[in-house]
This record gives sequence, C-alpha cells and structure tokens, in this order.
Amino acid sequence: METEWRRLRADELRERARDGAMVILPVASLEQHGPHLPVEVDTMLGETIARRTAAAVVARGEQALVLPTIWTGLSEHHMSFGGTITLDYPAFAALIEGVVRSVLRHGFRRVVLLNAHGGNENALRTITDDLTPKLGVPIVQFTYWYAAAAAIADILETQTVLSHACEAETSMMMAARPDLVAGERIPRARANVAPDLAPGVYRWRSIAARSASGVLGNPEAASAEKGERLFAAIAEAVARKLCDPELWQLPWQAEPSA
Ligand SMILES: [Zn+2]
Repeated sequence: METEWRRLRADELRERARDGAMVILPVASLEQHGPHLPVEVDTMLGETIARRTAAAVVARGEQALVLPTIWTGLSEHHMSFGGTITLDYPAFAALIEGVVRSVLRHGFRRVVLLNAHGGNENALRTITDDLTPKLGVPIVQFTYWYAAAAAIADILETQTVLSHACEAETSMMMAARPDLVAGERIPRARANVAPDLAPGVYRWRSIAARSASGVLGNPEAASAEKGERLFAAIAEAVARKLCDPELWQLPWQAEPSA
C-alpha cells in the first residue's frame, strides 16, 4: 500500500481520509553535521524513519500516510558553522499550523508530528499544546529518539542516547546514504566536546560552545549494520505506540466532572 502522500492522487487521498488514516508529518532541519556528514541528515533520517514507521503501522492493519518532510526548522545554535538554514519561531509555528489545518480540512482526524531535530523539540511541544484545544483533534507529537529511547540504547555501544552526528546518526546515514558519509573525515570529530556545566539549569548556547567540530557523541563507533538495526527498531517501537488505540481515544477536551 502506498504511504507517501505526495505520490497519491487527490481522489485517493479523499478515500484515505474516509478510511481514517493517520497522517505523519516528519519535521526536520538543514544544519551542520560535523566534518563527515551533509547538512541534510535530519531530513533524510526523519523521512526514512517516517516511511518505515508507516510501513510498520500498515503491517499492523492500520492506515498511515507520510507527508513530505519539513526540511527546515529551528537551528540558530548551528548557524556559526555555516551551511545551516534556520527559521524563527513565528514562521516555524505558522508553517506547522498551515500544514495541520490543511490535513484536517480534508477530513483526516489523526495527526502525528514526527520530530527529527533537537532544536525543534520545545517549539513542537508548544505548538501541540496550542493547536490541540484550538483545532479540537488529537495531535500526537514526539521526537523519535525519545519515543524509541530503549530500542536505541540497546543497539548503541558507546553512547546511551542519540546525540548529534554521532554513533547513531552516522550509522543510520551509512545504512541509508553511504555515498554521503565521508568516513575518512570522522577522526576530525574526536575529543572536541566541552563538558556540560551546571546540570538542571538552562541557557541558550551555540553548539560551537560545546563542540569545536560540531559533533556531539562518537561517530567512530558507527556502522551501516548498526544503522539498519536502528531504523528497524525505531520504526517498530514508534509504530507500536501509534497503533495503541488509547493514544487516540483519550479525552482531548476535558469534560467537567459532575
Ligand atoms: Zn539536528
């Protein structure tokens, strides 16, 4: 079954809306990924994970569609390295709202915002909190490395969590687009990370203040085989959550108790 929205005709999409398909919008970015990876990493990974998740949802007997990936997000903290395209928050929020409103006008009632970029996390949470009561439909939002944290931790050997241009992201790029990984440049990312200060407090920082190479984590431990296992495990973990009927049956508007 075709799951890519952009490949279907309008009449087919009207039918998918009648069938109650969930609509997955991958939200990513275009930002520096160290000395060895292209700026399009988050977009490629978000798109691949969304497509594989939709296939896993379909395998569970539900319908799912994947919209084209939002390729730019909130990446001010990467700008100093060059190559990065960022939006400001009002433009980003308006873009997401415009896409979600369009999807709802065509009769779909289950919207998933699948985030693939750390810089979008806080904004997408706020946008979801804003749009859900305003539009009156369930919007499920998550960042894939939190939704599939246990599966990712099981596979990684030198990191406990997915980071940036790291063991996990480099592995998945080696699996999806090996032609775009400059493996001989990976040693340039070594030993460049400043320790985090004052855990539990927050301040804005450029990635350059944390890592001179723009990499957080350990790309030297990456492999294509690990990348393929990550894709499979993430898609399965996320699909399992999306197919839980309770996720969509919660009371989206609070009723006053008697
Ligand atoms: Zn990113």
